[in-house]
Parts: sequence; structure tokens; C-alpha cells
Amino acid sequence: MAARVSERDRDALKGLMPDILRDLYGITALGRAFKCPSPDHDDSDPSAHYYESDQAVHCFGCGRTWDVFDLVGMRDGIDGFRERAEAVAAYAGYRLEDDGGLTAKRRPRNKPKPRPPFEFPREAGAQDVSSACFDAFCAFYEQGNEVGRRYLRWRGLDDADIARFGLGFARNPKAVMSQFRVYEPEALGYIVIPFWNRDFTEVRYCMARTVSRGGVRNKEWRPKGVASPLYNEWMLSASLPVVYVTEGLIDAMALAKATGKHAMALGGIGNAKRFSQVVYHTPAGLRPRKVMVCMDEDAEGRKAAAKIAADLSAIGVPRVVLPPYPGDAKDADEWLCAMRGEAWDYEEICQFEGDDCPLYVTRWRDGRI
Ligand SMILES: [Zn+2]
Repeated sequence: MAARVSERDRDALKGLMPDILRDLYGITALGRAFKCPSPDHDDSDPSAHYYESDQAVHCFGCGRTWDVFDLVGMRDGIDGFRERAEAVAAYAGYRLEDDGGLTAKRRPRNKPKPRPPFEFPREAGAQDVSSACFDAFCAFYEQGNEVGRRYLRWRGLDDADIARFGLGFARNPKAVMSQFRVYEPEALGYIVIPFWNRDFTEVRYCMARTVSRGGVRNKEWRPKGVASPLYNEWMLSASLPVVYVTEGLIDAMALAKATGKHAMALGGIGNAKRFSQVVYHTPAGLRPRKVMVCMDEDAEGRKAAAKIAADLSAIGVPRVVLPPYPGDAKDADEWLCAMRGEAWDYEEICQFEGDDCPLYVTRWRDGRI
């Protein structure tokens, strides 16, 4: 038999409803009506309220009422009061009292652990090269290296973006990360894209894009023998309200610039598997509350988008698959270049709340360029 939950814990946890609503649902204005949390209720006109006296949520649309245990239980598909209480405590960072151990002796279970559907992501990245990345950033502004900034401007990125994304320029990427082995006879240099951590204090992986007026053997170079993390992988464990995920690194920057939101990149479709692994092995409370899947507009991209959407659904993370870009743009960067400063906007037109994980459908607010 599972351990009991003390009365004191029960009361304390019940009082955490506002925290749970804020952290798991993004609801902060408790005096106002909000969207019904029930996945069975397509609540287009917010009809749920929080009642402080009962520490409960009630929906006038479907008539359901939840205390904090019901709410988290429904959200995460957890049965059993002790289990629900543990989930609430985990989300709120609350430590349950020990129940004295008299009734609580948990028998060790011999049941074999089921294999997780997503393996643990493998160790990625190498030594910290942040100091070399700072040098590469400065190199953009050294005389003779103007071509780096011209290249980025042509892709729709300016000086503010160079600083914002911590980009760099190098005549040979080896100077930034020793594992690079590039061979580009006609290269004028390389745009170095460091994979910064959240605080801009550490870089364990970079990509390098060839800048050339002539032929290019390889558009994008990677350090040899180093497993690639996702670009901005930290965004998957920062409790962000929404994260955009693209195929290419420049696309992530284009989207971040155009939407002002957090954007990360797979750095190649092959990394789609790692994406799902990382999300799966991130505690639920730290995952993004919503993921916008923005793959390229081609057969491979659409396949990857469908795979990621299915994985996120299995894990229980709401996701949106972006519709095709207007104006036949193939990816976010093409669209950014095409719109030349015009507003970028889309709307969510309907929500299917099937199964246990909503899928939003979007369309561009203005279809013309
Ligand atoms: Zn409802």
C-alpha cells in the first residue's frame, strides 16, 4: 500500500492551485475567466474560473470542478491520490512530510522497468570554446572581414542579430574549434555559429557556414568527431511558454527575429530523434508549454514535422505545425528575406483537442508578401 498524505500536506498542496495554474497553464490573472483546462471541452469563450474560497477551478461550460489534485491528475493522466499529491508537490517544489514509516513500507517491486520509448540523448559537444567565440565575434569588425557582415545582411540578419545570437567570423573555423577540418578553396571566410548556453558563458559546439563568391563545396561545416547537440537545446528545459523549432540554424535566427520568440534548431533532420529524446527526458514542468514545429517546405521537412508532432503528442506536449510559408518561401530565412521588414504574423484558427494533447492549426494572417 502506498504511503498516506498527511492532512497538513493535503491542505498545503491545495493552496498551491495558483502556482499550478501559473506554471502549468500560464494563467496569472485569477480574477478573470480563463480557458477550460479540460481536454474534452473546446472552450473558445473562456468559461473557467478560480474560486479562492474552495481553492478550486470550476467551468461553467462543461460543469466540471477540479481541486489541485484533480487538475494535475487529469493533465498528466495520474490516478491515485498519493500519486497525484506527489505530482503536485514535484511541480511546486514542495516536500511531502514523512508519514512515519508505519503504514508506508513500500514493498520493493520486481516488475521489470519498461523500456522508455525514447532513449537518453547521448553526450554531445566538446571542450568549452567560448573565449575563441568572443574573438570570432570581434573579427566581424576587423578591417578586411566586411564580407561576413555582408553575407549575413544578404540573409536578412544585421549587426543587432550578430550580437543577439553571438555569431562570429573566422578565416578558418579551426581557430575557434580545433575539431574543424574544412576545405574550401574559394572561401572568403566562415560565419561561425556558436551553440551558446542560456547565459552566454559556455560554448561546446559550433557550426561554420562557408562565405564564398565562387563555388562552395559544403554550405555548412561541423567539427569532426563531435556529436552535435541541438542549437539552443537549453530552451527545451527552461519552462518557456512557446519554443519554435526549425531545421536550419539561420532559420531559427530568422524566426526569433521575426517573432520575438524563442527559436531553436535541429541542425539537420537527422537530429529530430535527439529532439524527442531531450524533450522526453526533461521533467514535465521544465518542458516548453507549446512547441511550434517549423520544418522546411519540402518532402523531407514535412516528414520530419509529422514525426516530431507525433513524438510530442506521445510525450504530451502541445504542438503546432506551421502552415506553408506564404509566397512559396521554402524556409523561415527565405521568408524573412522576402518580406523585407514587413510584419510577420499568423493566427491560430482552431484547436482540435483530441486524445490527450491539443493540436493547434494556424494560418498566416495576411497571405501576401
Ligand atoms: Zn469546461
